Amino acid sequence: MSDMKQYVDDILDLVSKRDPDQTHFKNTVSEVLTSVVPLLEKHPEYKQHKILERMIEPDRIITFRVPWVDDKGEIQINRGFRVQMSSTLGPYKGGLRFHPSVTLDILKFLAFEQVFKNALTGLPIGGGKGGSDFDPHGRSDNEVMNFCQSFMTELYRHIGPNVDVPAGDIGVGGREIGYLFGQYKRIRDSYDAGVLTGKRTDYWGSLARTEATGYGLLYFVQDMLAAKGIDLAGKTIVVSGAGNVATYAIEKAQELGARVVTCSDSNGYIYDPDGIDLAALKEIKEVRRARIKEYAATHPNAEYHEGCSGVWSVKCDIALPCATQGEIDLASAKLLVANGVQAIGEGANMPSTLDAIAYFQSHKVLFAPAKAANAGGVATSALEMSQNSERRQWTFEKVDKRLRKIMSHIYRDAKKNAELYADPDDLVAGANITAFAKVADVMLAHGLV
Ligand code: GLU
Repeated sequence: MSDMKQYVDDILDLVSKRDPDQTHFKNTVSEVLTSVVPLLEKHPEYKQHKILERMIEPDRIITFRVPWVDDKGEIQINRGFRVQMSSTLGPYKGGLRFHPSVTLDILKFLAFEQVFKNALTGLPIGGGKGGSDFDPHGRSDNEVMNFCQSFMTELYRHIGPNVDVPAGDIGVGGREIGYLFGQYKRIRDSYDAGVLTGKRTDYWGSLARTEATGYGLLYFVQDMLAAKGIDLAGKTIVVSGAGNVATYAIEKAQELGARVVTCSDSNGYIYDPDGIDLAALKEIKEVRRARIKEYAATHPNAEYHEGCSGVWSVKCDIALPCATQGEIDLASAKLLVANGVQAIGEGANMPSTLDAIAYFQSHKVLFAPAKAANAGGVATSALEMSQNSERRQWTFEKVDKRLRKIMSHIYRDAKKNAELYADPDDLVAGANITAFAKVADVMLAHGLV
């Protein structure tokens, strides 16, 4: 075993020893570190300066109690977290997730991913993630507001436009960001527009931020396919999810001439051979905040199937997992490959398990990994921070143009390093190596901190 392979194994053992229950975190550390071994071999100074030991330990973790009162007058207590992983390249940056599945393990995994994703954007942002096990589903606006206000009553002391800039993620959209911002402004008595991103555009959010993750995903997939002489137009696409990422991935895919036949939520999936009717989907999800099952009632050719993992049994050319982590396991990967899938573009964070990724790669399926392919959202958040600093708002076209360019650069850098260090089509390794080198080199420049 090479010296550096041994170094990585020792670090993984250390992670297991310190936090034996944190399997999501360990998996992502393993995914990143294993693929950077060839880079470590070229740069012995990384080992000498204990870069890996330093990277796996967050700068700090904040956990707190979130007490609030529901509409029945009953007291509820949730758990809040913020993982400030790395400020090497800028203020901590990353979303807040409100979902019952939120644990410290999940947030450490997401924060670790975020550090490298943010580095890929080439913009001045470090990495973090936060959230709560609070479930906004089925809660009234008033309850969501009570919760958000209580959450911010603790969080405000740890964030700021030059310190830590949260945004949305699963369960945190424009409504939640609004309540969080209102409470921050009230406590601080200061209009720090750049303290949160994903704000509504009438109080200084960025145009195209809502669309950015989904659009960016399609831009990245477009570049990946173009390098092989493949056009998106006319392709059949399976999308999972029905949230912000999925919705705007569908919108851009349709604009580029593809046919998207599915979407899903945690209860089941819709198959519409005519192509998903986006206006109807937006109405159900964004206006009525209802389940996608309702789509089938107004679309006679569409079928609703219980169970969301069934979406991977639908025949397609391209699959875009845009729901949540681990949604494509090995069995689903085998189904997709057996049905002739040519490309996977990850819209959610780490939606494919490690064995699913290995299966796609060994079957020559083009694979766009999340930290590169879904970086358009956070990149546009960084553009929102720029706009807030200069106290101006850019046009939709200007932001979208910048986003298109950023996604091309991310693809180009990942491809270049895949060719230099790994299999030329291995964008997982290419993205990890690009991002790791950016962070590690600046850590060296900053000295032992
Ligand atoms: N939650 C998104 C992500 O996973 C966006 C984070 C942000 O804009 O700060 O990248």
